[in-house]
Amino acid sequence: MRKKERYQHLIEYFTTNFPEPKTELHYKNAYELLLAVVLSAQCTDKRVNLVIPALLEQFPTPQHLAAATPDDIYPFIKSISYPNNKAKHLAGLGKMLVEQFNAEVPSSVAELQQLPGVGRKTANVISSVIYNQPAMAVDTHVFRVSKRLGLVTQNAHTPLEVEKQLMQGIPQSLVPKAHHWLILHGRYICVARKPKCEHCALTYFCKFYQTHWPNIPDDPENRL
Ligand code: SF4
Repeated sequence: MRKKERYQHLIEYFTTNFPEPKTELHYKNAYELLLAVVLSAQCTDKRVNLVIPALLEQFPTPQHLAAATPDDIYPFIKSISYPNNKAKHLAGLGKMLVEQFNAEVPSSVAELQQLPGVGRKTANVISSVIYNQPAMAVDTHVFRVSKRLGLVTQNAHTPLEVEKQLMQGIPQSLVPKAHHWLILHGRYICVARKPKCEHCALTYFCKFYQTHWPNIPDDPENRL
């Protein structure tokens, strides 16, 4: 099957069955989502959703965060991964939002990436989810599922290469939704170590499935 047909099947399936996918992080505005996405690096959305209410109660605006030190922030996020680094990032992020962006979360990926703790993936999430821009955030799930389905070439070794190839195959207007489709599929069905192909509706165009069926192996590239 050609790659173009795989994209057509992907879009047809998800637009029909999951027309309005959403992030599983809880947020009410751009500032809250920004904090949640920064905290979610190497951590589950579930855990972030548990800690973020108390954090936001203490630091409800960029101005509150800008006035805080990492030591002030640490106790609120100590149960998530890399709390020391993330506390430093959030303190710096609050200050930069206030001093350089008038306490507003910027919309461009380039400006977002200037913020401490905000890499390309986080910037793409904010740009896409909050501002509905065609920015494809490639996390571990998007990376894995795109390769297994055959949406990108096997020699796409970095998130940026996968991002570029996905952007060529997915219509711009659907990029924000496609990001959620691939993440959620990876989180619940096409899981890292052994994909749940027996529960997957995409077998008819999945390259990994078609290559390995009926002996779906543990995926040696995705043991974690
Ligand atoms: S068929 Fe299997 S490998 Fe392919 S997307 Fe579905 S779960 Fe993943």
